[in-house]
Amino acid sequence: MPSLAVVGSQWGDEGKGKIVDYLAQEAHVVVRFQGGNNAGHSVMIGEELFKLHHLPSGILRKGKLAVIGNGVVIDPAVLIKEIDALESRGVSVANLRISDRAHVILPYHRLLDGAEERLRKGAKVGTTGRGIGPAYADKATRLGVRMGDLVDVDLLKAKLDFAVPLKQKYLEMCGDDSRLDGRAIMAEYSAHGRRLKPYVTDTGAVVRDALKRKRNILFEGAQGTMLDIDHGTYPYVTSSTTVASNAASGSGVPPSAVGEVFGVVKAYTTRVGEGPFPTELLDETGASIADKGGEFGTTTGRARRCGWLDLMVTKYAHALSGFTGIAMTKIDVLGGFDEVKVCTHYRLDKKKISGIPADLRVLARCEPVYKTLGGWEDLEGATLEKVLKKGFSALPGNMRAYVRFVEKEMGVPVTMLGLGRRRNELLDLRKRKWK
Ligand code: GDP
Repeated sequence: MPSLAVVGSQWGDEGKGKIVDYLAQEAHVVVRFQGGNNAGHSVMIGEELFKLHHLPSGILRKGKLAVIGNGVVIDPAVLIKEIDALESRGVSVANLRISDRAHVILPYHRLLDGAEERLRKGAKVGTTGRGIGPAYADKATRLGVRMGDLVDVDLLKAKLDFAVPLKQKYLEMCGDDSRLDGRAIMAEYSAHGRRLKPYVTDTGAVVRDALKRKRNILFEGAQGTMLDIDHGTYPYVTSSTTVASNAASGSGVPPSAVGEVFGVVKAYTTRVGEGPFPTELLDETGASIADKGGEFGTTTGRARRCGWLDLMVTKYAHALSGFTGIAMTKIDVLGGFDEVKVCTHYRLDKKKISGIPADLRVLARCEPVYKTLGGWEDLEGATLEKVLKKGFSALPGNMRAYVRFVEKEMGVPVTMLGLGRRRNELLDLRKRKWK
């Protein structure tokens, strides 16, 4: 495996965790390059479910270097809890490296996240309330505290002495009467710094050095293309860049270091929170996909909105990230329907349009045009075992036709196919001839 980035092609929750976990077998280093603890990856190992928010999924594979890159924002208390939880289940985190340039989520970020969202009243962004947006905002306004600062008491104090009074004023302006205690924050965060110090380093240098030694790097994206702060359905987006180009700058390596890009495409579409969603199914079919697919957020528990696969969205994602392969997940969830639909394009005022409109009012008026394909039976028990053993050719004909239709429309091969929640319920199709 050359170096490879895995990114979400829809609104997140595509099942990236499982794909990264699988590919991590072949990698020496797994790097998270953006987002914060709003990313929730679930990986099933046997009957055990591991939920990760901060740690790269690669942490679950022995002997891999797991890196939290400079593009990530970190809530140290959450990270420490996650480290403790993994260690108590016998998973070592000795190979964890945290960027000294990654920004820290502070208590006032969480308070401001809530206060700003309350002020928005009817136009809520639908943030997870974890302070991620305000932490990224402070990074941009140069008020941020970085992981490197946490381990330097004098620097941390100087930064907090400046930021805390400002944040107190801003909280008051937002109608939040919480009182910030600078000393308590200092005490708590310097303790976090001491605890995390062994892991904090110049991770850019670590990854670049690994590249020089021809190591395989896996860049693990969080969220999805439609949540990208520049290219997504702004303002209903996350606060970082989720497309493949950020795998480089969020890790501190040149773009040329990111060899391949796998776009994770869930076989249908989901989205959490507000904003237009052209293929949304507000009927029984949508409810049944949600139910069968377990579409409830790993991090928030919120129910996800569900709809048919939208190729306008995934083609846009490919245009932005340049997929060299598609990791299609959760195709098993579509089993049992007589027919399944795929949106091939949008119509606006009766005309076919190309691309995703930036104006959400326009996107909300887009009507999806569907191609209807034949359904297939659920893959269960012995049939699933047989497929996992024999591979693609043993899949039901209509399921194969679905996969082929998507790859033909996108012009990208399906290189992985997820057939269930478990770690082994996945077909590796990288060697398959697809044209
Ligand atoms: P991520 O943030 O993109 O990693 O996605 P999540 O972890 O939030 O959601 C993916 C969910 O789908 C998890 O519960 C996974 O265990 C599950 N999952 C991943 N791949 C598959 C698959 O191919 N089939 C089924 N049924 N579930 C899957």
